[in-house]
Amino acid sequence: MVGSLTIVGLGPGEAHWLTPAAQAALDAASDLVGYEPYLDRIPARAGRTKHGSDNRVEIARAEHALRLAAEGRTVAVVSGGDPGVFAMAAAVFEALEAGDPAWRALTITVEPGITAMLAAAAKVGAPLGGDFCAISLSDNLKPWEVVTMRLEAVLAADFVIALYNPISKARPWQLGAALELAVRHRPAETPVIFARAVGRPDENLRVLPLSQAVAAAASADMATLVMIGASSTRLIERPGQAAIVYTPRSVTKSPCATSQGRT
Ligand code: SAH
Repeated sequence: MVGSLTIVGLGPGEAHWLTPAAQAALDAASDLVGYEPYLDRIPARAGRTKHGSDNRVEIARAEHALRLAAEGRTVAVVSGGDPGVFAMAAAVFEALEAGDPAWRALTITVEPGITAMLAAAAKVGAPLGGDFCAISLSDNLKPWEVVTMRLEAVLAADFVIALYNPISKARPWQLGAALELAVRHRPAETPVIFARAVGRPDENLRVLPLSQAVAAAASADMATLVMIGASSTRLIERPGQAAIVYTPRSVTKSPCATSQGRT
């Protein structure tokens, strides 16, 4: 019997941010594979086995899931947010590419989820209203020089930048270094969003001017998504309510002129 494997995005946290299609994939699964804290979000059910693992073993976890599917099981691999954004979908395909050719006969589906960047953006307004990009600051899988080169390029091109994996105990200085680079390209008042645990009970959202963000870098952690505004990203202040952060859809000045003027 040929099994199937679905890579499911759980969204950032709130159950009501799980898509009905993702919920249906979880309901259909005989086996759930994933990082333990993500599996904890899914209620236990008779006849469904949970295979929890540590955060750092993505490829081993992906191979385990493919083997279970090859045995005829209906497997769901779970990821926080969207499984295609710095997450398990690419790990499964890496394992598929390098692994047993028989695995290619499996039915493999990716069920999208709301990624942290979109959840964070929605909470503060519309910071992604203009052109934007996402960069993982983790240098576990790529050299730091590559991160720096990409940051320089998108800062010069005036993108809004969403930074995933901004900081960890093993990588304490990268976020500060990234924000210092931003200071050289963007106005001091550019809004920087620190969105922590969006959609979870301990959610915390802060918007700081870039000039204060470098000093605040150490307050971020692995549950934080950091967003650096473009030069046009701004605040709409409101009495008695949090300011709205937004990036207009239109661009009136050349980003090259802006960055050259500042460096
Ligand atoms: N697949 C995930 C991202 C995995 S990388 C997604 O699509 O969201 C892990 C990083 O995502 C974290 O270090 C953090 O930067 C961000 N992240 C994940 N969930 C988050 C949440 N609820 N709030 C803020 N950031 C989050």
